[in-house]
Amino acid sequence: MKAYKYGLVIGLVMLNVLGFAQNLQFDANFENGRLDTAYLYSGHYRLWPITNLHARVTGLQGQQPQFAIFDSLGYQLRSYHHMVYREEGTNQWQFFDTAYKAGTTSYYYFQNQQSFTVDTIYLAYWAPYTYSDLQAFMNSMVNDRNVIPWIAGTSYQGRNLYAFEISDTSYLDCYKQKVVITARQHPVEHINGYFIEGMANYLRSNDSLATELRKRFRFLFYPMCNPDGVYNGSGQNALGQGLNREWADSLAWGGTPEVDSIKQDIWFKTDSAFDYGIDIHANAGSNLAYYWWGFTSSSGVDSNLLNRAEHYVQAVALVDTSSNQGTSLYQNYIQGNGVNSSKTAANWFYRSGGAVAFTFEPTSEPLGFSGDNALGVDRYRLAGASLAKGFRDLGDSIEPMRGFVALSQISGAWLSAEGGKPPYQFYWESLAGGPSDTTRFISFFGGGLTRVRITDANGCVFERVVNVPYMNMPEHSFSIKLYPNPNEGSFKIEVPGGVEEAHLSLYRYNGQKVWEGKYKFLEKLNLDLDLAPGYYLLQIQSKTGKVGQPLIIKP
Ligand SMILES: [Zn+2]
Repeated sequence: MKAYKYGLVIGLVMLNVLGFAQNLQFDANFENGRLDTAYLYSGHYRLWPITNLHARVTGLQGQQPQFAIFDSLGYQLRSYHHMVYREEGTNQWQFFDTAYKAGTTSYYYFQNQQSFTVDTIYLAYWAPYTYSDLQAFMNSMVNDRNVIPWIAGTSYQGRNLYAFEISDTSYLDCYKQKVVITARQHPVEHINGYFIEGMANYLRSNDSLATELRKRFRFLFYPMCNPDGVYNGSGQNALGQGLNREWADSLAWGGTPEVDSIKQDIWFKTDSAFDYGIDIHANAGSNLAYYWWGFTSSSGVDSNLLNRAEHYVQAVALVDTSSNQGTSLYQNYIQGNGVNSSKTAANWFYRSGGAVAFTFEPTSEPLGFSGDNALGVDRYRLAGASLAKGFRDLGDSIEPMRGFVALSQISGAWLSAEGGKPPYQFYWESLAGGPSDTTRFISFFGGGLTRVRITDANGCVFERVVNVPYMNMPEHSFSIKLYPNPNEGSFKIEVPGGVEEAHLSLYRYNGQKVWEGKYKFLEKLNLDLDLAPGYYLLQIQSKTGKVGQPLIIKP
């Protein structure tokens, strides 16, 4: 939905309708409330506006009123649209039982088949998703270690521009693709709040694909770009701007506080380049199912971008099961060209971030299905999960990289890494006046605060400052072979000549001894141990000294 031309009439509309048995009162004096007119006409209540409508109705106990709204634009109210309501004191939005649109007029009527058993309800065009709803959602993620929340700025009226990233931070960012998701530029498009929740909650889940996506992507969410409009029940921000035409290419301050802040924030968080950008909208009047604006063959973009765009929308359609019939609601092609001179978010994603960019337009009741196709908010959430699953094979061709530091007071400290592009370089830098070292395993270090660094062949850097325990170990006079390493618990140990007998101890890196045994001269030890995956240190103590060898047990 591009823009709303309704006036900015906000606030309290309190009508005490007289002369009618059902003495209902209407108002919009609450968060996101919006009611411009309400009056009794020929036995029913006529309400205005249409899609922004969010009104409180009182005096309903035992009543069965009929309501009507006028479709001034002639297309927004399809005869099977379902208005929603919730009873005061609950947060469960439900559909009105019946709806009727006369063929010859543009009035759309709706009511329930039973009388209300409560006195007060809230009614709306589609299930509202408020600023408070977003705050509750942000709070629900606060203890999730895969979620990094922040505030990207403030709106004109001082509300937070919430943002959060979902990614597995134990993997370095180097080989992760960056996905930017913006939503709710147009406050009336409530349903995209549920898409955001569905996408984010899927990415936070223990599902194996979600786990893999967190390793391979950074998902940066800006879930409510226009909090003032949402809070006020307006179609625009507090300055009367519809935000999606305010994304000029430059980063210069453009007089639209919300867009200016979010642009700067995306630029900073992505280091000025990202891989995918999805700007979520919603459309009440479309005859199309969930559809995409973006790159088409006439966009003139690089074929690699075009291919990735097409691949993604096809993947989303393949994995989606969000219709009431368990089928997909997504179109598997890109509806129209989203790359032009217009100053939309998606256009900025492409032109300034180099991203595969989309404007995504879900409808509130997609056509194309027989029967009742009214969608509850759980269906929108399910559809949102598909937006995440569509990235299932779009990660970088290089495995994500992570590094490990193992510190053992007993017998040494070592570095290890996986993913990225081997070989790795290891570096220990004492911050306590001790020596530096470039070996993977150290057993002589003086201890204290130490900067450790692992660099792969592409220059991807893992770096930590750790406190290395002081190690009192003699210089070793022999070396051992342990192979294969990593392994799954079966491995061989060889010690070169000169060592007659040795005592073997296997430690977890936290110092816990998990196995011990004896080694005899020229024996080749074959061990088959039942060990949990992780990082271990094998210590070999002989008369001539002590040596440690890191051991990695694979899952
Ligand atoms: Zn929109």
